[in-house]
Amino acid sequence: MSRRPRLILSRQAVAQNYQRLSSVSGNAECAASIKADAYGVGIGFVAPILWEEGCRTYFVAYLEEALALRELLHDATIYVFHGFDPQDFDVARSARIRPVINLSEEALNPKIKQLNPAVHVDTGMRRLGIPQYEMGRILDLVERSNPSLLMSHLSKADEPQSADNLIQLELFNSIRHELGGACPSSSLANTAGILLGPAFHFELVRPGIGLYGGSPDPNDPKGFEPVVTWQAQVMELQDVAMGEPVGYGGSFLAPCALKLATIGIGYADGYHRILGGQGEVAIDGQICPIVGRVSMDLVTLDVSAIPNIKQGTWVEIMGPTISIDTMAVKANTIAYELLTRLGPRMDRVLV
Ligand SMILES: *Cc1c(COP(=O)(O)O)cnc(C)c1O
Repeated sequence: MSRRPRLILSRQAVAQNYQRLSSVSGNAECAASIKADAYGVGIGFVAPILWEEGCRTYFVAYLEEALALRELLHDATIYVFHGFDPQDFDVARSARIRPVINLSEEALNPKIKQLNPAVHVDTGMRRLGIPQYEMGRILDLVERSNPSLLMSHLSKADEPQSADNLIQLELFNSIRHELGGACPSSSLANTAGILLGPAFHFELVRPGIGLYGGSPDPNDPKGFEPVVTWQAQVMELQDVAMGEPVGYGGSFLAPCALKLATIGIGYADGYHRILGGQGEVAIDGQICPIVGRVSMDLVTLDVSAIPNIKQGTWVEIMGPTISIDTMAVKANTIAYELLTRLGPRMDRVLV
């Protein structure tokens, strides 16, 4: 049997998270953001489950991702957040891939109309899209591109108390108003935006992280079903005496005699190095601290309190006991980064 670490992926969790987001979104269509290989979870695993659950519209970042998704979902509506160049229009058109237009120059090519694009307006993120104060450019772009969707993105949806959400909402509504009926459908909300309430839902919502079991803010878990259980195996057990150094640089000194277990996982698998000396894993639901530095392929645990551990025992890195949000807080990051950095060499087991 393989000694590699593994990811156990739950179909049921993806399905339940989609149904929850869809039901909270009321009458709005619940699309899915599945860029970056479905946030590292795997597009080939996630996309067919979402389709089965009724998801018909998908967002990716690049044309290449869209073409790969088209192979999996023949009838889906697919938008590309970053758009693509005119030389790719024919390929995109024959695969029925829709660009999101972020700049008015992108709509100079008259063929744009045949692509059913989305138009992205910037209501405060200051990142992508035409800024809301350039209404003339927005009107001109909409007239030239005949868009299927008007979209904008919230910068502080994960801070529900922030007044900036209401400011962005108001600007988005005023753009919609000025456009009259020129855009049949509008979209503002990601996962956190959906949770802000019905005023943010419009005709279509486009969650990502909640589908994959994470919260937009790791300090405020939202109870999504855990999709990924991450495990590694014990490679070796060692007894160390009081005062002995452990691992690279000897950064950990045993405060008393300890039993240590070394497990087969490291930063090459996406286990963040910052977790050295402060991370936790679980064995049979019991928490064990990490001691010393995180190596490329190995991590050492203090298992003095764990009975019956042996070479080959599976250790939970993330899952039912160590939630993705707990781990994100410990690693000083967010669930999004933990998932998208999961390394390629792990076994993937679908349940
Ligand atoms: C990634 C992304 C989303 C999804 O956001 P989540 O916070 O993962 O729900 C929605 N809209 C845009 C523009 C995005 O880039």
